[in-house]
Amino acid sequence: MKKIGILGSTGSIGTQTLEVVREKEDLKVIALAAGSNVEELERQAREFRPKLAVLYNEEGAALLKEKLKDTGIKVAAGMEGLLEAATLTETDIFVTAIVGMIGIRPTIAAIEMGKQIALANKETLVTAGHIIMPLAKEKKVDILPVDSEHSAIFQCMGQNGREEVEKLLLTASGGPFFGKKRKDLMDITVEEALKHPNWSMGKKITIDSSTLVNKGLEVIEAKWLFSVDLEQIQVVVHPQSVIHSMVQYQDGSVIAQMGLPDMKLPIQYALYYPERKYLRGDRLNFNQCLQLTFDKPDLDTFFGLKLAIEAARKGGSAPTVFNAANEKAVQLFLDRKIQFLQIPEIIQWALESHKLIDNPSVSQILEIERETYELIKSRW
Ligand code: NDP
Repeated sequence: MKKIGILGSTGSIGTQTLEVVREKEDLKVIALAAGSNVEELERQAREFRPKLAVLYNEEGAALLKEKLKDTGIKVAAGMEGLLEAATLTETDIFVTAIVGMIGIRPTIAAIEMGKQIALANKETLVTAGHIIMPLAKEKKVDILPVDSEHSAIFQCMGQNGREEVEKLLLTASGGPFFGKKRKDLMDITVEEALKHPNWSMGKKITIDSSTLVNKGLEVIEAKWLFSVDLEQIQVVVHPQSVIHSMVQYQDGSVIAQMGLPDMKLPIQYALYYPERKYLRGDRLNFNQCLQLTFDKPDLDTFFGLKLAIEAARKGGSAPTVFNAANEKAVQLFLDRKIQFLQIPEIIQWALESHKLIDNPSVSQILEIERETYELIKSRW
């Protein structure tokens, strides 16, 4: 029996993780944690009967405690609760499916306790990869990627050593605006940006996919996960999302991982790694005309991707500023307070206003996040 904790259980990745658990008799949920969704967490807690249910929001947690009082399930709140969920002794694997840098401290706490990590929360690695990866190595903890591209690379790597790898080919669908130029993106509405052609995901990552900022975050995530140089990562636009990413080896061989777009595959692969288990669902049909096309990303139109690569090259606190500015800008766009093209403009402005710090600590990262939010709030 594998025992799991889920941080962000009510979100897109969290609920799909629970769909995987529902199908398997050898997976047991020990802890569920979310932000403020009382109704959904109550429903999940009643179905999966964890030992602990956590809501970050204190009022929500108090309400949940009342609602679950007949169940014997412990309810906790705030960061303390998230840390408790991350460190329960029974848990074998901790799924980080929360959005944003709030995932950093629980992820570190889980690694400190020697838990395996199934990592969806890319913001954690983007901002604190220099802390998390060495700690995971020291504690002999696997960071198992849930992001489909990184799972694909992980699967393509198999038993091959990093030194055999020439390049990681990170595929990108291109999002709903692939092929468009900057002038075409002036009046993009929230609804248009939320229509991803291939994947159904949470709102923040869907907007990030439409700006290609998500791909930028993934480049930084890949650099940390696979300890490669930035120059060894190439973004390849592949609108069909059939190839989820590829690894090019030193002998010129390119190995690709393919499948239909379904996040349950990388989630399940991380939960059972290194085993592969049956997963219900449709399969790729090679009897049908299947056309796979590839293109270069347009860094002029989608300059958020370019900014991410520049921030990664600078290193230190730059990826934190990039990520925090993007989070705030996406929220402003979703609240209809700024235009679509202002998202990368705000990121650029925040990066230019920042004085770089090398090797920031966790508290410095969180402080830089707060300062970046404040900076943006002072103007928008
Ligand atoms: P969602 O917005 O769908 O879900 C976010 C989850 O985080 C919810 O459960 C939410 O709880 C919870 N949450 C938010 N704030 C807090 C908080 N302060 N404390 C505790 N929990 C909190 O996001 P996604 O599932 O789309 O994405 C999650 C992560 O996975 C992101 O880092 C994303 O980049 C990554 N990812 C997602 C993919 C996808 O297909 N969705 C693919 C690859 C990576 P509540 O519902 O209560 O607000």
